[in-house]
Amino acid sequence: MKIKAAVMTEVGKPLSIQQVELSEPKSNEVLVKIKATGVCHSDLNALHDQTTPTPTILGHEGSGIVEAVGSNVTRVKVGDKVALSWVPYCGTCEFCITGAVHLCESAFGPMFEGTLLDGTSRLSQDGKQIYHNSLLSTFAEFAVVPEMSCVKLPDEMPLAQASLIGCGVATGYGAAVNAAGVTPGSTVAVFGIGGVGVNAIQGAHIAGASKIIACDVKPANLEIAKQFGATHTINSAEVDVEAALKELTNGLGVHFAIDCSGHTAAAESAWKSTRKGGTVVLVGAFNPEKTLNIPAGGFHRVGKVLKGSFYGDTQPFRDFPMIAQMYLDGKFKLDELVLNRIELNDINQAFDSFHDCGCINVGRAVIEFND
Ligand SMILES: [Zn+2]
Ligand SMILES: [Zn+2]
Repeated sequence: MKIKAAVMTEVGKPLSIQQVELSEPKSNEVLVKIKATGVCHSDLNALHDQTTPTPTILGHEGSGIVEAVGSNVTRVKVGDKVALSWVPYCGTCEFCITGAVHLCESAFGPMFEGTLLDGTSRLSQDGKQIYHNSLLSTFAEFAVVPEMSCVKLPDEMPLAQASLIGCGVATGYGAAVNAAGVTPGSTVAVFGIGGVGVNAIQGAHIAGASKIIACDVKPANLEIAKQFGATHTINSAEVDVEAALKELTNGLGVHFAIDCSGHTAAAESAWKSTRKGGTVVLVGAFNPEKTLNIPAGGFHRVGKVLKGSFYGDTQPFRDFPMIAQMYLDGKFKLDELVLNRIELNDINQAFDSFHDCGCINVGRAVIEFND
């Protein structure tokens, strides 16, 4: 079928709205009519990443309606409302069998090679292959995706809000709830208040933390953090964040620190601000040339855990419907994350706004496809 899509033709160039060919889903794949898709900072990173295979169609946070299913598909049926996961796990690899489905072996190759799980593409133009992105490619009217990317949501779930669950929301919420394992009554510091950070705050709030301290350099972002459950804020450009966190925690440091900033200095602060026996979770993607400096002296004596978290250690079929239900019950904020609603034709505006440091960047521009 012919579909309209935003095509990344070259690294760093604006996306181009073009007609492309999408072939039918194979036996374990699903054709999804995309209804909403968030424009994520990772899309901007991919646009400027020399290793991104081109031409490609970006977009990895999406929601839509199942339009057709392959012959072996059993998890969803035509008409189902779905949120998309970019780690369609296999269930049988070394990582899946130990419960770490977010680290599934089978998804990682195709994720970076720009194909679906079988190593091939369903996207083309004039007979020339177009690469997929994150196994989804949601900046298009339709997408063929793996069955295991399709997570059914309640019919009453609004689609723009649903589109955000599968990336920043799951990553932040999961960092607090799954990776850190925030406990009731505990103290939590979240470094880096963006689309992921506010969801780490929401997760900590839902898990019952008593103090949730947002740390960032942008006053506007710290204000927004309060809406999502932060009880305290620290502007780390103005005060000594480690001293301030100790002061808020009887001199002991926080139980849990979660770095969503991707800055090594913030991650090192997170480590120093955590009490003995505490847990530090690093979610942000660091510059690969940087090194994290954690003092070796006394490491064994403090008994702390330092942990990386990918995709919020998410179990999509458990976590996505749970987040949707909490939203429908008024216990999880998603409306506030939909900053503006745009059409696919205006997608480059959303990319441009990432460069506007003055604009609010807690949340997303969401592209909607109306009938
Ligand atoms: Zn994303
Ligand atoms: Zn697996």
